[in-house]
Amino acid sequence: MIAPAKKGEQPGSMLEGAKLCQNDPLLGAMIDALPEAIFVIDAEAHAVAANPAALSVLPSLRLGEPLARSLRSPDVLDALDRILVGGGAEKVLWVERQPVECWFEAHLAPLRLAGYEPAAVISLRDLTEARRVERMRVDFIANASHELRTPLASLLGFVETLQGPARDDPKARERFLGIMREQAQRMARLVDDLLSLSRIEQHLHLRPDTPVDLTMLVAHICDTLAPMAEESGLSIESNLAPNVIVPGDRDELARVVENLVENAIKYGRPAGDAAALVEISLRGYGAVAVFTVRDHGPGIAPAHIPRLTERFYRVDAGKSRSKGGTGLGLAIVKHIVLRHRGKLTIDSKPGAGAAFRVVLPLLQSDQIDGG
Ligand code: ADP
Repeated sequence: MIAPAKKGEQPGSMLEGAKLCQNDPLLGAMIDALPEAIFVIDAEAHAVAANPAALSVLPSLRLGEPLARSLRSPDVLDALDRILVGGGAEKVLWVERQPVECWFEAHLAPLRLAGYEPAAVISLRDLTEARRVERMRVDFIANASHELRTPLASLLGFVETLQGPARDDPKARERFLGIMREQAQRMARLVDDLLSLSRIEQHLHLRPDTPVDLTMLVAHICDTLAPMAEESGLSIESNLAPNVIVPGDRDELARVVENLVENAIKYGRPAGDAAALVEISLRGYGAVAVFTVRDHGPGIAPAHIPRLTERFYRVDAGKSRSKGGTGLGLAIVKHIVLRHRGKLTIDSKPGAGAAFRVVLPLLQSDQIDGG
């Protein structure tokens, strides 16, 4: 068993403190191997042993010194005092705000062994990641509800107008029905995107393995989207290497290509009337396929770039909505690329356009045989 410091013993440095587990090296090694931070505290509330996880939570901890010098949670220290005067085990939530917000759950338990002064053991569970995920879930529900509520409110408003003041106005009725159709389509797009995202997330660990001819797929999508580009005063220029084949899910890869090319068309128009290109390239390099969509639009400020693949994150929500955007396109792209064990990178400078690049593993010969 661990032997807490006997009264008068001076553990001194961190390494000397670790000797406390010396009379049971197995126990000492086991505590060191635990992922949770463990501190052993003596009767004077001095830290007398700590495992590496504990020292990474409290790097300023010095063994042999009062715990209060490095751990600044009054709640944890009060609970420790109660235990050292005979109290029972306690659980305390502790939030560290600096340098970044971290949440811990501290479990404090008495160590009362014959022949030793009363002592305590504190174990800390890091709840930061669980809190972050929980916060994301709450934000996601709030965002999704907000996105659905706006077109729904507009639909309800028009239904009331059609039942009331515009009842006998055929012209207004026609116009309002057009708007209602747009709003209903927006809701349908949003629900479709939410369902796609959840389906992809459910299968994230399963790598799709059907051979997909990316060259043919990209060429087909470029042809399909050419009229949309033209309407926006853009032309698509594609430079595609032949026979670029990847293991994948054809529909999901089509979604990636469509989303990126559509975004270049929606957001990639340069200021002024200049006719501009959306450049699309597909190449095989070694074991990977590299698909790039480059536009010459206003580009994206660096602060936004790391957040673009977050659900509902948009640089300009008004512009996105006016172009039929749901704010989920790049989140879907990122998840599909992850499922295909690939990588998405975004390169842009304000005023100098944007390049979205997807790198995917190429189909290997043994996969062809296997498939
Ligand atoms: P949506 O287009 O539905 O808003 P996305 O997830 O596809 O959602 O894109 C998120 C945001 O990223 C867009 O709202 C836009 O602000 C920005 N964005 C995407 N592609 C480009 C691009 N090619 N140029 C500039 N901004 C872009």
